[in-house]
Amino acid sequence: MRRRALGIDLGGTQVRAALVDADGAVLRRASARTDVGGGPPAILAQFARLMAEIGADTATLAGVGVCAPGPLDSATGTFIHVPTLPRWEGFALRDRLAADLGLPVVVEGDAIAAAYGEWRFGAGRGLDHLLYITVSTGIGGGVVSDGRLLHGRRGMAAHVGHFRMATDGPRCACGAVGCFEAFAAGTALDRRARQAVLDHPDSLLASMAATDPAHAGHVVEAARQGDAVALRLLDQEAAYLGEGITSLIHLYSPERVIIGGGVSNGLDLMQARIHRVIEETAMPSFRDVRVVRAGLGDNAGLVGAAALILFDERRRAQA
Ligand SMILES: [Zn+2]
Repeated sequence: MRRRALGIDLGGTQVRAALVDADGAVLRRASARTDVGGGPPAILAQFARLMAEIGADTATLAGVGVCAPGPLDSATGTFIHVPTLPRWEGFALRDRLAADLGLPVVVEGDAIAAAYGEWRFGAGRGLDHLLYITVSTGIGGGVVSDGRLLHGRRGMAAHVGHFRMATDGPRCACGAVGCFEAFAAGTALDRRARQAVLDHPDSLLASMAATDPAHAGHVVEAARQGDAVALRLLDQEAAYLGEGITSLIHLYSPERVIIGGGVSNGLDLMQARIHRVIEETAMPSFRDVRVVRAGLGDNAGLVGAAALILFDERRRAQA
């Protein structure tokens, strides 16, 4: 029996491939800068090069799991509209790759694949209900409910970044106003950090951002050194995350909320505040839900995409 799968994480800046075994261990990996301008033919060629580089032999693979930014139709493995991959609209990646390789192929949204990876091999192992949220440039998510991955129409469920926290507020990348992502994504924290640097030029945060515009990474680093400005920024970020997570807990009733993405590097500094928001504002029966950091780091999408093959998730979903 073939107990290895290839995971591919197709991002707007990087494409990564990894050979993953049945225990979720990454055996080998390789990456390249995404050839965005070349469209599907160039990226299929990149997949082939990365597979050769890590020595992925189709004869020994159970299949290939690909994750990419959404929204994409994971029921058919077709791209719908991905702002960072402009030439991929309508491209049926799953069928093309399956025909080229002669292997089963699954194509899934990156945050949903990461949720799956965390469920099978990371911070959500053994649970029946979990919510995964990635907080980076945007906010994405995935949900496991009743022991199965939630797909929804066209596989687009759990785009948690775009539920509206307010009818007013910052403009989101999606064009709407007041989305969770517009308040709490890494880019929103970056923007508040740059304003804080202007308001507090003597802060440690400002000195860290002397050569480079301030970003979320600076905030976490300065907060760890006790900078009051950075600590206030993280406290506010935690409050926004707590508000959004509280609503999502009401929607999905997870046993645990798992946070990944770049901003999760500072989760330990924000956890107490997030938990306080949940305890003070959720309905009483939801207040004991805890928020933890993802276990697979930036391999979550890669490992999750491979795991979709290893656990035959599509067939399970159709059964
Ligand atoms: Zn939005």
